[in-house]
Amino acid sequence: MRCRVCRSRAAIEVRRHNAAFCGEHFVEHIHRQVQRTIEDFEMFNSDDRLLLGVSGGKDSLALWEILTELGYRVDGVNLELGIGAYSVDSTNYSRVFADQRDLTLLEVDLQDEFGFDIPAAAASSSRTACSACGLSKRYVLNSVARRGGYNVLVMGHNLDDEAATLFSNVASWNIDYLARQHPVLVETDAGLARKVKPLIRVAERETAAYAVIRGIDYEIDECPMANGNTINRIKEQLNAMEQQRPGFKQRFLFGFLERGSPIFNEGPRPVLTACSVCGSPTTGDVCAFCKLQDRAAKPTGEGQ
Ligand code: SF4
Ligand SMILES: [Zn+2]
Ligand SMILES: [Zn+2]
Repeated sequence: MRCRVCRSRAAIEVRRHNAAFCGEHFVEHIHRQVQRTIEDFEMFNSDDRLLLGVSGGKDSLALWEILTELGYRVDGVNLELGIGAYSVDSTNYSRVFADQRDLTLLEVDLQDEFGFDIPAAAASSSRTACSACGLSKRYVLNSVARRGGYNVLVMGHNLDDEAATLFSNVASWNIDYLARQHPVLVETDAGLARKVKPLIRVAERETAAYAVIRGIDYEIDECPMANGNTINRIKEQLNAMEQQRPGFKQRFLFGFLERGSPIFNEGPRPVLTACSVCGSPTTGDVCAFCKLQDRAAKPTGEGQ
């Protein structure tokens, strides 16, 4: 197998592009894919202040490297979730990455700032750990972005993440989620920062390969609370499809974005008002995060 560009021995094959690349040209290929995504979806430009959600995993650290190499100014924010050694390691990988490259990493400790962690949230509410975790990340990252004057919140979701989420939303015909599934969610006057996902054209195995080639150390262990995560099971099924039909995931996701998304987006937008507790945008009186915090931050037995 030879590199498509220089004909030297290839380091990685990208079957859906019917191509293979050496390390150097694979890095260039990934940079082009991300820059194209940023431009096609008009995500941001070099004047914008970008805040990237950094978990210490391959996707967010690879994306931080890619965006910095492409010339964007990006600060990172790490949310310490309180999931034992996994969270400690994740934070450490994020710190080391930022220190080595002289990048700014903001840190928020869920327990210190909000009085609960993800295991407590999962134990005290009807939500799964991943649901409580996703809600907390969305809330905290948006708050940090708004407080810090960042106008764009950047997330490291890759092609596999987005295709699996889309599959899940289609399987249950979750119209509200389908209406919001887009790589750009525009900012709102009510206080939501613009949210973008520049990695959606890059597969999970490609961000891993990129991290290895660039010498990025990242958290390899899986989160212990991911057990039974539906999205992970769907990813396995989609990988089996991809094996038989290279490009399946990309066609599924981008076909939806081109032809399906506009249809689901036609309905009226939900009206957002300020949460009566924290002032963040919500569709109800009290936002979902404040409700979660109210239950999770109490000692066991209270508020049940
Ligand atoms: S697997 Fe679930 S609980 Fe663990 S970090 Fe991911 S979303 Fe959070
Ligand atoms: Zn090459
Ligand atoms: Zn609130």
